[in-house]
Amino acid sequence: MLLRMTALILTLTVAACGGEQTAATAGAAATSQEVYKWSMVTTWPKNLPGMGIAPETIAKKVKEMSNGRLVIKVYGAGEVVGPMEVFDAVSLGTVQMGHGAAYYWKGKDPATQFFTAVPFGLTAQEMNGWLLHGGGLELWRELYAQYDLVPFPAGNTGVQMAGWFNKEINSLDDMKGLKMRIPGLGGEVFERLGGTAVSMAGGDIYTSMQTGVIDATEWVGPYNDLAFGLHQVAKYYYYPGWQEPGPNLELIVNKDAWDTLPDDLKAIVENAALAVNADLLAEYTARNNAALRELVDEHGVQLRRLPDDVLKELQVISEELTAKAIDRDSDLARRIYESFKQYQKDVVAYHEISERAYINAR
Ligand code: CA
Repeated sequence: MLLRMTALILTLTVAACGGEQTAATAGAAATSQEVYKWSMVTTWPKNLPGMGIAPETIAKKVKEMSNGRLVIKVYGAGEVVGPMEVFDAVSLGTVQMGHGAAYYWKGKDPATQFFTAVPFGLTAQEMNGWLLHGGGLELWRELYAQYDLVPFPAGNTGVQMAGWFNKEINSLDDMKGLKMRIPGLGGEVFERLGGTAVSMAGGDIYTSMQTGVIDATEWVGPYNDLAFGLHQVAKYYYYPGWQEPGPNLELIVNKDAWDTLPDDLKAIVENAALAVNADLLAEYTARNNAALRELVDEHGVQLRRLPDDVLKELQVISEELTAKAIDRDSDLARRIYESFKQYQKDVVAYHEISERAYINAR
């Protein structure tokens, strides 16, 4: 709008001076009115509450803020490409945008996992601090530049649940032999315990549990797990989500497509992603407890806490495997690991006397 008014004033000024509109002015005005029609693919089932709606919300905000100059059509998992093909589709420029989670791409580079969640790592609040003010986003951009991608933080679920089981977990031995859907570094920890970790998209979990392809699963938390009906295929619901304490979701944009956008549209995309990043966490925070009550009170779900000794052992293994997860020969991977660990050390020290002290006192 501002640009349009500036262009108009310029035109009027030129007209008032009796001169002709220069070619350069005409070109700038034409560029600013260009309409971009983009596509966004996602790893989420279409219309899944929360994260499945987040990409639609980004598209809606971008359209409104750009006055219709950037229109994004959103496709759910499997509509254009499969959920696990989002990274490649955007990287290759098949589509301009994608929404998902970086740890799904650990096969491309294990360091991607640091930009979703590390077991016993950062909470949502802490993750946002690292990404937006602790150097995390710059490192993420450097990593994704190798794939012609520009990433943005675009949602967080807060602390997840440890998952759904059909037997009680009283010791690490109880996880032995289980086949569980658990992506990222959490999956590697689970494998160390003698289980089999499967990384599958959310939309395949219910049927896989129902048909016995997997014995256990983690997904998100009550709000999303209730929507999937996971209480129909498992009895015990364990907390806390040690494997994903504050998973960051991503908006990825193809670098060549990004470079075609004028600066105001770039700012609009960035700010729409930031708005959704904050809003999604607020939505999960507001909705999780009602969903948990429904699971427990109406569906008879057995809510269980993982025993302290199990959590302690999981933490020891997690730290060992997180350190091993990065490619030691890669200078970038080392810098990502060191930045994350140093930031975590600092933020945990302060949160001991702020967040934890307050929650314990409340
Ligand atoms: Ca999860």
